[in-house]
Amino acid sequence: MVWIDTHCHLNAEPFSGKVPQTVELSKKNGVSHILIPSIDRDSFTDVHHIAHTVDGCSYALGIHPLYVPQSPESDLDVLEQWVQEKMTDSRFVAIGEIGLDFYLPERCTPAAREKQEYFFCRQLEIARQYDLPVLLHTLRSVDTVLKFLRQYGVRRGIAHAFNGSMQQAEAYINQGFKISFCGTVTYERAHQRRMLAKELPIDALVVETDAPDLPPYWKNKRENSPAELPRIAGIIAGLRGISPEYLAECTRHNAVSAVPRLADRI
Ligand SMILES: [Zn+2]
Repeated sequence: MVWIDTHCHLNAEPFSGKVPQTVELSKKNGVSHILIPSIDRDSFTDVHHIAHTVDGCSYALGIHPLYVPQSPESDLDVLEQWVQEKMTDSRFVAIGEIGLDFYLPERCTPAAREKQEYFFCRQLEIARQYDLPVLLHTLRSVDTVLKFLRQYGVRRGIAHAFNGSMQQAEAYINQGFKISFCGTVTYERAHQRRMLAKELPIDALVVETDAPDLPPYWKNKRENSPAELPRIAGIIAGLRGISPEYLAECTRHNAVSAVPRLADRI
């Protein structure tokens, strides 16, 4: 049984100095591959470096909505240069993490919204131009993100740590996207997420940890690790009444369908 962690920030500070050990432990637990999204221009080098020095990792390039306020517009040109150069790098597999985040009021002022949407749309254009899937952040922005996906004709990728309704999930699936579940689904009070993890078609599901963030109930804040994925996914298998083996096989297949360049890596 092998799992793919489709979203893990191995370049984040809590993993500093212990990435190889973390990946090794994850492999022992049954996680065969980890996809690492970048968050801003500075992190492009970090995720590229990890994917090229630690076996079993690939990377995505993008500017995360929470890092848009401090990013100059020229970082989008830098991103495009990176993408163009790395198209021949088999460890580079997607555009991400990109999206919109309207969780806090200061992220929703007209100016803040406009900059977030500008960065998101420019990155959707890059995804279209290079025919790459996108890894999406959709916090309090599920419908707006979908509107732009439709507008820019982006039809492949993963809606990460999804927290929308059934109807919204179905709209993403119709747009060609997979829906990703993480440690938040382990909390019994997470009724909406658990309902989705149980009811959505099996060919729409992928799994992730978003480590070091979004820990399952048995881990503290910023202590999440990709090694926890099998236990998290086991809870999803339990909700659906299927074997973990079958869920692992399906989500692995779905991850490759969402991110085709993974096929050569796993
Ligand atoms: Zn993330």
